[in-house]
Amino acid sequence: MRDEELWEYCEGQSLCINHLHWDGSILAEDLYAWYNTNAQTEDKPPLVWPDADVLGKRLPKAGEPFADAKELEGFMHGLILKYRMEDVFAVPGGAMQTQRDLRAMALHHCNYLKEHNVFFAETRFAPWYHTRKGLSMSEVIGYALQGFEEAHEKTGVRVRPIICINREVDPSVAIDIVDAALLYERDLAGIDLACMEQGRPPELFYDAFRKTFDTHLKRSVHAGEMCLSENENLRNVHTAITKLRADGIGHAIPLHKRTWGGEDLVQLMLDNNVRLESNPVCNDRFYPVTIRRLHLDKLSEWGVLVTINPDDPAMWPDGHLVDNLYAVGRLYGKEFVDKMVANSYVAAWTGE
Ligand SMILES: [Zn+2]
Repeated sequence: MRDEELWEYCEGQSLCINHLHWDGSILAEDLYAWYNTNAQTEDKPPLVWPDADVLGKRLPKAGEPFADAKELEGFMHGLILKYRMEDVFAVPGGAMQTQRDLRAMALHHCNYLKEHNVFFAETRFAPWYHTRKGLSMSEVIGYALQGFEEAHEKTGVRVRPIICINREVDPSVAIDIVDAALLYERDLAGIDLACMEQGRPPELFYDAFRKTFDTHLKRSVHAGEMCLSENENLRNVHTAITKLRADGIGHAIPLHKRTWGGEDLVQLMLDNNVRLESNPVCNDRFYPVTIRRLHLDKLSEWGVLVTINPDDPAMWPDGHLVDNLYAVGRLYGKEFVDKMVANSYVAAWTGE
């Protein structure tokens, strides 16, 4: 049963987000409306069920349009567990390919944040995914910044974007992505290494990350999330801090184990002012961890700057920031929620 008092307490907070993905946070209702408004007169991709599920089994509704926003939401909430990642992310991806659409989705995003009491967010996106209709990566970043600026004027919500390297790309493309980001160095919070971690360790992207050393861009790395072995997850955290000079680590699920290769990873995080961008509800959904087993209380006691984040709140049920805060509040109490909210502001890369 829900603890209503705690829920209201979490809902009443003014929030700041250090880790969420733009494409993973646009709600099904906004996407459904985008695809179905003037669909015949504009060059929009059809919004239809994909051919197969995550196991390759043909779907009964393959090729049929989604009946309504609710059905689309059910599809998006089946990310990875029922449907392939590329099929699900193709839905927001299809709506984010032109200047006009990027600006529209920036406004949807800021409206979403405002409704959830979030007034500052380091929203991240991979420009490479938004070049299908001919925009260059630097144009994508420029139009996104323009969209977030316009949305700030309308909503009061400030977004300082982080540019993701989608790690399936060749390391030479990663350098192009960072070059595009460097054109907007003052307007961006930083860069990030994101997407499928297994087989794509951080050191592959050293040359791209090196370009940001001694610039204004901060560095975040998704590390210690998706590898099959705990050793590899911990190793990637170590590499991200020591080689890529990460300022933030996304996920780091086994960080509470503390050491790798005889080195104290927690001490490394403290010595290098590295924030932890934890995404508890996401981890609980996709990996065999319960939120308790992240030991965020212990990490916080050890002095790690732990932040609580939603990651992709449109992609699973109960994925908003308030759901994440409530989940850790159930385990560790209101004071822990206070600490996590305070940490998100301390850890924010505001550029000030
Ligand atoms: Zn993420």
